[in-house]
Amino acid sequence: MLHLQNYINGTFLAPVSGAYLPNINPATGEVYSQIPDSDERDVQAAVEAAQAAFPAWSAFSAEKRGRFLIKLSELIDQNLERLAKAETTDNGKPLSLSRTVDIPRASSNLYFFGTGVQHFASEAHSMEGVAVNYTVRKPLGVVACISPWNLPLYLFTWKIAPALAAGNCVVAKPSEITPYTAHLLAELCVEAGLPAGVLNIVHGTGPKAGAAMCEHPEVKAISFTGGTQTGKTIARTAAPMFKKLSLELGGKNATVIFADCDFEKTVSTALQAAFANQGQICLCGSRILVERPLYDRFKAAFLERVKNLTVGDPMEEGSRMGALVSEVHLQKVQNYIALAQEEGGTLLTGGERVYMKGRCANGYFLQPTVFEGLPHTCRTNTEEIFGPVVTLMPFDTEEEALTYANYTQYGLAASVWTQDLTRAHRVAHQLQSGIVWVNTWLLRDLRTPFGGTKQSGVGREGGWEALRFFTDPQNVCIKL
Ligand code: NAD
Repeated sequence: MLHLQNYINGTFLAPVSGAYLPNINPATGEVYSQIPDSDERDVQAAVEAAQAAFPAWSAFSAEKRGRFLIKLSELIDQNLERLAKAETTDNGKPLSLSRTVDIPRASSNLYFFGTGVQHFASEAHSMEGVAVNYTVRKPLGVVACISPWNLPLYLFTWKIAPALAAGNCVVAKPSEITPYTAHLLAELCVEAGLPAGVLNIVHGTGPKAGAAMCEHPEVKAISFTGGTQTGKTIARTAAPMFKKLSLELGGKNATVIFADCDFEKTVSTALQAAFANQGQICLCGSRILVERPLYDRFKAAFLERVKNLTVGDPMEEGSRMGALVSEVHLQKVQNYIALAQEEGGTLLTGGERVYMKGRCANGYFLQPTVFEGLPHTCRTNTEEIFGPVVTLMPFDTEEEALTYANYTQYGLAASVWTQDLTRAHRVAHQLQSGIVWVNTWLLRDLRTPFGGTKQSGVGREGGWEALRFFTDPQNVCIKL
């Protein structure tokens, strides 16, 4: 049995309490590792290590810090296969996805900010003939990075990389459901020669280890990705302490399809947007709105492809969909399938748990599921399900499509499918979401602002936004 340890001050440590939590492989239902059930004492040690490391780390040049991140990125590339298998074992996602998306993107995050920070500049404002202002951007000190289970190493590094690049020292917690690749990253930090205390990884649950990080007075900023309810809890803690807060929360994203779209491209990408990672991506398009003249044709083509999606052992090459992340999550998604039926939805395909043979007999598999006939106002169409369950809705006018799309408390992402350029801009600008894709989905340029509006979050990650978040601006005004 694998025993993960906390990574504090450059060494691997057991939790102070000596208590461990079981970690389950969702494709088999078996416990395959034990992870530290850390508490405030472990967090305290991590914060102290980070505080001690901060003066030297923040004094390094951007280039020197950047080189450590680039080294880490290279080590991820060298360990791609091992990390991909670890991610799939922990999360249940198809190995092909871990290999081509999750792990390469973790490497890119470190490379991007390792190089990017060397180009980071601050502003100067000249008051002609009177004075000149220049802005210094200072690292904050110790910051906390807390990430979810759906894209484990991908989102963990998306936070850690800009935090470290900007000169902060980090106390980080991966999800207790998917801690394995964060542990392997700690091993790579040792190999990269990252100075002790610069990055500290504390494993454990949110209410215990996560909350202790957020409550710690020496933690100056919190970068969090996870559920909206958790975001609210963290905001309540952080607000009276005036901590900087970046919250990337839930989504209920619309795929808005007009009759003039490129049909084949639209069907195949809408399918991917619906079911990639078993629908467990905050950006997944789970409400598919189709202009009425195209509705029947789209529905037929979409359902045909959904039925061909192979749900299978995530370690097997042919599997397009793996296991859901946990039994609790599977149950939650099944409850939403029952709710959709109670709300009067027509089940077009799927809806059932899949029981595999052999090694995956006890895994948490679910058929890709499609409903129609539900109003845009119902719970199924407004609450985040975060699983392989989508709804189809016809619309008659652009206004109606916008009403449906915007009728949710969330505002993370949307995609618009049309050949009409003017309409694409017009609709994109009226969608209440932080990200809009036109004729594509999940095409990411790491320089762009990433995040949501409404209850999908506060602040933006990516590019300069992230480096600004992890620094404090100081303006110096010089009288000429
Ligand atoms: P979660 O909120 O349950 O947990 C996320 C992380 O927060 C975990 O590490 C957890 O241990 C920790 N946590 C839980 N309670 C805490 C507390 N009180 N204090 C501090 N930390 C705490 O979310 P999840 O179930 O792991 O992830 C799924 C959610 O994440 C979905 O809602 C999804 O939409 C969202 N998500 C959002 C984005 C985005 O970029 N907006 C990306 C991925 C996932």
